[in-house]
Amino acid sequence: MAKKNKEIKCYYCGKVIESSHDHVIKKVPMATKAGIRNYNRQLHLDCVPKYNEGLENTDMRKEENSDWDLVYKYFRKEVLGMDETLALGEHATKRLLGLRLGLYYPQAQNVRVLPRGYSYKTILITMKVVNPKVQAYLKTTNFVNFKHKIDGVMKFITGEIPDVQKRMDTQKKANEKLDQEVAQPTFDYKSRLRKKKEEESKGIADDVASLLGGSL
Ligand SMILES: [Zn+2]
Repeated sequence: MAKKNKEIKCYYCGKVIESSHDHVIKKVPMATKAGIRNYNRQLHLDCVPKYNEGLENTDMRKEENSDWDLVYKYFRKEVLGMDETLALGEHATKRLLGLRLGLYYPQAQNVRVLPRGYSYKTILITMKVVNPKVQAYLKTTNFVNFKHKIDGVMKFITGEIPDVQKRMDTQKKANEKLDQEVAQPTFDYKSRLRKKKEEESKGIADDVASLLGGSL
């Protein structure tokens, strides 16, 4: 019995790749114990962009996870003055995750990569802005329990965060405007370059004319 060619399955969708026209081999860098290694992944042509999009999302998730880490650690050490070996506890963690969605508590388990509420970067900046006030408040207030303390601190953050967001948006717009202005001389440069090229090609035409022996 003749050996049948082994079926190739798409790494992204798991379905068989029927036609060689639809078959793409993509090198994918993977983190292994021995460092980054490239692996060949077989994909449908149509599945490549979908797969790439997923990779980008993973990068986005990674970035967001590290931002969350910074928020958590700053809140624990710089705001509450807690030891770094201690966990924040459920209430404080949920309140911080809730900020990400602009809610008291997060409603879904997974709040990552959702385009609403406030980013962890905004939350972190806000904490830094209000921390001097928070420290004064913590020194002069008696709390019934830890939850009371957390909710007291959170009032400072939730009170300030819309303003911080507004300032960040304004700055982003200003930076974008700056980018456009910086880009302006590039256009001048391009038009200068075009002129120069035109002059050069005129020069070439003149050379051709002289090669042909005389004026045209
Ligand atoms: Zn596929």
